[in-house]
Amino acid sequence: MSDPKAKEVEDELDEYNSDDDNIEVPDKKVEDQKDYHFSSHAAGFRDLLLKPELLRAISDCGFEHPSEVQHQAIPQGMLGHDVICQAKSGMGKTCVFVLAILQQLDPEKSPKPAAVVLCHTRELAHQIAHEFKRLKKYIPAITVEEIYGGMPIQPQREKMKKDPPHVIVGTPGRVMALCQEKSLKLNQVKHFVLDECDKMLEKADMRSQVQKIFIDTPHSKQVMMFSATIEGELLGVCKKFMHNPLEILINDGSKLTLHGLQQYYVELNESEKNRKLVDLLDALEFNQLVIFVKSVNRAEHLKRILVDCSFPAAHLTSGMPQAERIETYQKFKEFQYRVLVATNLVGRGIDIARINVVINYDMPENADTYLHRVGRAGRFGTQGLAISFVSSSDDANVLNDVQSRFVVNISTLPDEIDAHTYM
Ligand code: AMP
Repeated sequence: MSDPKAKEVEDELDEYNSDDDNIEVPDKKVEDQKDYHFSSHAAGFRDLLLKPELLRAISDCGFEHPSEVQHQAIPQGMLGHDVICQAKSGMGKTCVFVLAILQQLDPEKSPKPAAVVLCHTRELAHQIAHEFKRLKKYIPAITVEEIYGGMPIQPQREKMKKDPPHVIVGTPGRVMALCQEKSLKLNQVKHFVLDECDKMLEKADMRSQVQKIFIDTPHSKQVMMFSATIEGELLGVCKKFMHNPLEILINDGSKLTLHGLQQYYVELNESEKNRKLVDLLDALEFNQLVIFVKSVNRAEHLKRILVDCSFPAAHLTSGMPQAERIETYQKFKEFQYRVLVATNLVGRGIDIARINVVINYDMPENADTYLHRVGRAGRFGTQGLAISFVSSSDDANVLNDVQSRFVVNISTLPDEIDAHTYM
């Protein structure tokens, strides 16, 4: 908070944070749940008293029971209370806010837009919009639009002016631009969601965009925020947007560990990485695999090497045109590629059920990013494998930090791994 721009945003936030519309909600904290490991709650979705149309859509998705976090957060969320929710990667947090909003929306009476969901990447916005569309299948009169940059603004402008949807899912830059030119009017919004909230509020520029959008919405509304990692100062910042929220927080790092996920590291020199990677791709059995690298150029370069070696690989980075980004994401999701080389762009939130192996070709910059990246494998309690290349003392420090923060033992990669243990 020492840089002046961040201070300015903080001050604005303080200014907004008046208590005059404080909704009385009992002070609720759900901290350190006894079992935050994979455990779907025994009670069914039916017990959550959702609309029959939603229950039908949930059943079509094949979901049998709500996960722990869904069981904890959906009841408060659907009553309109503010919720701040830390949930282990891949345990169904998207459904929490999607169902909470769809339950409260009335396609005839709700304003347009009634809900704004913001997230940090366009691919994640696309994925969240898709989750809304799946779950509103039997309430077709509810409308949902994706709004993000890299696409022509004019059609979005026309749409927002003439026929705004009930739900907007977008990234802050474009949503803010449409608000500022008054094409998009948020003065009747009732639900405001930040997914990956720590990421959205940590840097001053994105925080200030979120802040500007937030100020355009009415004072009295429901605010919900989600991430696998919400800690310290950022938790305080998040709470400034909320009124007496239900807090579902995980204070013990070990409870963020993904128990179906095996984690190993390989110590090697930078020059040995390509050889090792190709050996691993030959030796491992996988459904789909993501390789994380630290820069756009490295992703393009490595993708080319893999394609030259006949691996069915694609790459996905912010250096690509937007339409191509979404197309690549979609094709990978549809299993048209088996291997994806990506930057941190794909490190958070992206949910592709067939990914069961993650390779950190370049070690991430910190333990939180590691946790998000490896969480792309082993979704919803399934098995997976994560292998990290360690080639410098900085890499080793991150690995040690991961092990102590999340109380997990990451050992050297054995010569052989039984594929049944991660497939
Ligand atoms: P998320 O953590 O929101 O990215 O969700 C991870 C994956 O779990 C997504 O593919 C969801 O569709 C799926 N999912 C969410 N809730 C459930 C549930 N109750 N049962 C089974 N799968 C679920």
